[in-house]
Amino acid sequence: MTLSIILGRKGRDVVTVPPEQTLRETVQTLSDMKIGAIVVADGSRRVLGILSERDIIRAVAKRDTDVLADPVSEHMTRNVVTAQEDTTIPHAMERMTEGRFRHLPITDDGRLVGIVSIGDLVKHRLSEMETENQALHDYIAAV
Ligand code: AMP
Repeated sequence: MTLSIILGRKGRDVVTVPPEQTLRETVQTLSDMKIGAIVVADGSRRVLGILSERDIIRAVAKRDTDVLADPVSEHMTRNVVTAQEDTTIPHAMERMTEGRFRHLPITDDGRLVGIVSIGDLVKHRLSEMETENQALHDYIAAV
């Protein structure tokens, strides 16, 4: 099973910010949208970086709230691991576990077409387990 199943269910909208947007505005966007990370992209939806709650906490711990006036580009992770819609779900989970991050942008030909979070993957796995359980119950009841 691939990530396209998850994107088909949750949708392909991705909240992005331009690199010059301030951390203050970005914190507000994260709070308003109830999300934990934001993709930094250019006008063609090419991924330039990713900024998560962790990056903001790290920056504030270092320089206090002065950092809120900085552009996002100063605090984002530039080396973003991305996946494609045809990436398998176990492979995506493996990459996120190994890389210790909770967000995986999905690209097509270098352009952003979606994002999955660890929460989306856990939700999918739970529903798979429920289906498997039900199938086992049905099987046992039938024999
Ligand atoms: P997260 O667990 O997603 O909140 O992110 C933890 C750290 O990993 C932060 O420094 C993020 O900027 C970085 N990060 C998040 N997602 C990715 C990704 N897909 N590729 C590379 N780094 C990431």
